[in-house]
Order: sequence, then C-alpha cells, then structure tokens
Amino acid sequence: MDSLPTVSDVVRQYSLGANKKLGQHFLLDMNITDKIARLATPLGDYHVAEIGPGPGGLTRSLLKAGAGAVTVIEMDDRFLPALKDISDVSADRMTIIKGDALRVDIATELGSDRPIKIAANLPYNVGTKMLINWLTADPLFWDQAVLMFQKEVALRIVASPGDPNYGRLAVLAQSICQCNFAFEVPAKAFSPPPKVDSAVVALQPLPMEKRFKDIKRLGELTQAAFGQRRKMLRKSLKPFAKKYSLDMDNWLSGAGANPTQRPEELPVKSFQDLATSSS
Ligand code: SAM
Repeated sequence: MDSLPTVSDVVRQYSLGANKKLGQHFLLDMNITDKIARLATPLGDYHVAEIGPGPGGLTRSLLKAGAGAVTVIEMDDRFLPALKDISDVSADRMTIIKGDALRVDIATELGSDRPIKIAANLPYNVGTKMLINWLTADPLFWDQAVLMFQKEVALRIVASPGDPNYGRLAVLAQSICQCNFAFEVPAKAFSPPPKVDSAVVALQPLPMEKRFKDIKRLGELTQAAFGQRRKMLRKSLKPFAKKYSLDMDNWLSGAGANPTQRPEELPVKSFQDLATSSS
C-alpha cells in the first residue's frame, strides 16, 4: 500500500473530477479514512463490503487495518483503473465489482466464507435507501456497518423520542441495531466539500432474540405515523388501523400509547408493540 501514490495524486493522475449526480465527495485525508477503518476493527477474519470506493482512500485504510478480504462496489467506471492499482498490491485480498450497489446482492457476491462487515462513505443521494435495504435484509447478512452519512441523517439514526430528528429511520435502525454516533467530519475534509457536514455511525446488529422480527410491518406503521408527524396518532394511524381491523383505543393503549400523542413522543418499544399487536 505504501508504494502507491497519494489519493490526491491518483485523482489528478486519472483526472477523476467529481460527478455530483453520483454524490461524489472524496476523502483524501488518510487520517480520517484510517479512523473509519479503526472503528470497523477487528477486520482480519472478516470480508468487508465497501460501497462507493471512488479513488480508494477508505479501501486502502481497510486493507491497511488488516481486512481479510475487501469487495468494493463502484458504479462509476472511471475509478476502476485506480482501484485496480490498489488491488494489485493487496495480496489478493481485494475484489472489484462494477455496478449499482442498490442492485448488487452483497450476501451472494461475498459468499459465506467469512462474516461480512459493511464500510462506506456513502453517496448522500442514496445512502438512506441503502441503509434501509440492509436493515430489512432477511436474513441480516452483515455483522457490523460503519457508515458515513450527511450529519443530519446520522442524527436521525441515533435520535431518541422527543428529539426533532426522531422518526422512522431511528425506529427501524434501533429495532435491528445498536446505533452509535461515532464522530463528525467537517465538510472541508472532502474534495469537493459538500454543503453540509458529515458524520460516521457504527451499527451493530442486536443479538437475534432482541432484534425486532416483523420489520416490514414496522416499516409500514412508521411510514403511516411519521408520514403525518404533526398529527395525533388517532388521525395519522386511522388508515393503518382500518386496514388491519384494529380498535384504535384498545390497540394504542395495549402498547402504552394514547390517541392524542404525536409520533415523535412514542418510544421505539411502543412502535414495536403496535406493529406486533397489529398482526
Ligand atoms: N469512498 C470514496 C471516498 O471516501 O473518497 C468516495 C465516496 S463518494 C461520497 C461516493 C461514491 O459512491 C462515489 O465514488 C460514487 O461514484 C459511488 N456511488 C454512487 N452511487 C453508487 C451506487 N448506487 N452504487 C455504487 N457506488 C455508487
């Protein structure tokens, strides 16, 4: 890895101008990519799926931190030569997939030889969608995810009831994972700098018996509740209650909720109880 030119030089060498449509903001400071990779350690026994490696700064850090295997999934083929240069010095630990990570079946591509971790500086435009896909994957195919989002999304993942950031993403993520806001990364650390700051979140799946089972129903319920977050539950959940033939008052009180509450006041556990008792 030390024999490679710096990531900044690679960007220049291959004329890798950022394509805003693909959410491209590069991390050229290896201190930051090393910090992200450290959060994902231990890595030696794992296969890491890195989404959107771009010029490969985080890829290098993951390999340097001792990842047993790294598979990168990149949509923009302009990055393939730079990624191949890293692969050539990776002692056969790196695989490159050219494609849209939203369509790639990560579990199948990586196989079952090693447990899987996901690491990424995610493209802002599709980061939340990717996370929801990974949270709702059945079976959950990954053991840890260390992900950079725009800071506002990171805050939404870890938010508690009463917090203005609390919503559907918090309920879903916290029903499947222990979610930790790890650290912030200022916009100026990227090239080109995005309009907002970023933050890294570490997601650790809960033990199987604590993971909420019916994530699909929970998704539907939270969509109904937070889709109209200013409204009281008795109003926002009316179509949902009707669809599943639920008596609103009994159903809500069984989960410790009351009809005049708004969704942002309701703890994750109450949403889970409401989802469970709706089926
Ligand atoms: N990991 C690099 C870094 O930290 O410097 C680049 C991060 S940049 C924020 C996001 C990367 O994701 C870009 O390389 C972009 O081309 C890639 N990307 C965007 N959408 C993608 C998708 N659907 N599937 C795979 N890669 C994608």
